[in-house]
Amino acid sequence: MTNGIDEKVRGAYEEVLRRSTGEVEFHQAVREVLESLGPVLAKYPEFREGKIIERICEPERQIIFRVPWQDDRGEVQINRGFRVQYNSALGPYKGGLRFHPSVYLGIVKFLGFEQIFKNALTGLPIGGGKGGSDFDPKGKSDSEVMRFCQSFMTELMRYIGEYTDVPAGDIGVGGREIGYMFGQYKRLTSRYEAGVLTGKGLGYGGSLVRTEATGYGTTYFVREMLAVRKDSFEGKTCIVSGSGNVAIYTIEKIHELGGKVVACSDSNGVIHDEKGIDLDLVKRLKERERRRIKDYTDYRKHAKYVAGGNIWDIPCQVAMPSATQNEINGKDAATLVKNGCIAVGEGANMPTTPEGVKIFLASGIAYGPGKAANAGGVATSALEMQQNASRDSWTFEHTEQRLAEIMKNIHRNCWETAEEFGAKGNYVVGANIAGFIRVAKAMVAHGLI
Ligand code: NDP
Repeated sequence: MTNGIDEKVRGAYEEVLRRSTGEVEFHQAVREVLESLGPVLAKYPEFREGKIIERICEPERQIIFRVPWQDDRGEVQINRGFRVQYNSALGPYKGGLRFHPSVYLGIVKFLGFEQIFKNALTGLPIGGGKGGSDFDPKGKSDSEVMRFCQSFMTELMRYIGEYTDVPAGDIGVGGREIGYMFGQYKRLTSRYEAGVLTGKGLGYGGSLVRTEATGYGTTYFVREMLAVRKDSFEGKTCIVSGSGNVAIYTIEKIHELGGKVVACSDSNGVIHDEKGIDLDLVKRLKERERRRIKDYTDYRKHAKYVAGGNIWDIPCQVAMPSATQNEINGKDAATLVKNGCIAVGEGANMPTTPEGVKIFLASGIAYGPGKAANAGGVATSALEMQQNASRDSWTFEHTEQRLAEIMKNIHRNCWETAEEFGAKGNYVVGANIAGFIRVAKAMVAHGLI
């Protein structure tokens, strides 16, 4: 089980397996980072002496709580809430909340662990954390979602604050949910503490570009990877899985940059539109009417819908997984490469299984792992915090310009770090090492805490 891991980090990984039985997504995320770190310990013995890897794998604090609420029929429902405050070496804990029935501690810890390195890569002063609940917002009325969010925040408010821990959205948590949670926090604390949550509405402290940031940022990252190969999005056939926040704004930016997205999906099926996805229609169905993606064919008769279909079977040159973890397995990765895919940019967190990652890396295509490629979302959350702290609001153009610069810097940092550590072109190694070194240096400076 520990094959392929450098002996200098093997002990840390064994401890993770022992302490977190059954948390398979967490094991996967830790292993993927540790596999890159052997050469770093050889270069920085102080990290080894200070047991930085062992400390970084163990969250600073894990909170699990009951979330009782009443549905529209008056029946009592109980969900479980989580917040993992993973690492505060670089700033207040920062990371989204996920509301999805699959959420359990192992998912929150995998996401929180990834978040530490992602946030470090942005170069901004934010630590890593993540949270959520096994609540399923799908099919719930607005009032039910509001009652759930209020109950969730009634407990979570004890642990968060603009200098402590600043949650945001993730799967199942968008502007509506953030609004209800912000309202409840304000009510309970009697404080208008705008910087306690990001992803807020534009009318009450939100930042322009935050909604678009993850999708736009991932697309910028892929633009940089293509530029290294003297290529661009112009005329490329692209596939974007999912049809939520990240997918929608990935499609928007790809279309702006001259690419054509021919397929998107949700957890029930796949839409294939050879003429190019009609994004206004997807926005209407998903953002405004909260409908399923299969309804797309009611309006675009030539498009095909395949219930339970596999989006990665559709040939493309650029693939942007933007739905969920482990959505591309080894077979899917092989199919993508065989069909001529030259670049993969992960909008979702850990969407490719370890077998899939190996295939992408061995094939020599441009592969941008989530913790680097999708860091634009949290980076723009940090820009929202800056605007809240200075009681200012920036223009769309200025904020988007900052986002584009940040993504360029992340790309350059990953590229140069990979080269420095003898893995030219391997963004996995570059992202893991560059993120880790920044956090590790701060941890050494803070002493044994
Ligand atoms: P949304 O809830 O807005 O959308 C999620 C999309 O993915 C939906 O189309 C959903 O379909 C689909 N999906 C979710 N779970 C599954 C599943 N188990 N199988 C198949 N499809 C699924 O979430 P986001 O767009 O915000 O997040 C998407 C990904 O991006 C996640 O991995 C998230 O962690 C990551 N991410 C998000 C950031 C953000 O700023 N929002 C920042 C960085 C990363 P359905 O409606 O059927 O469930």
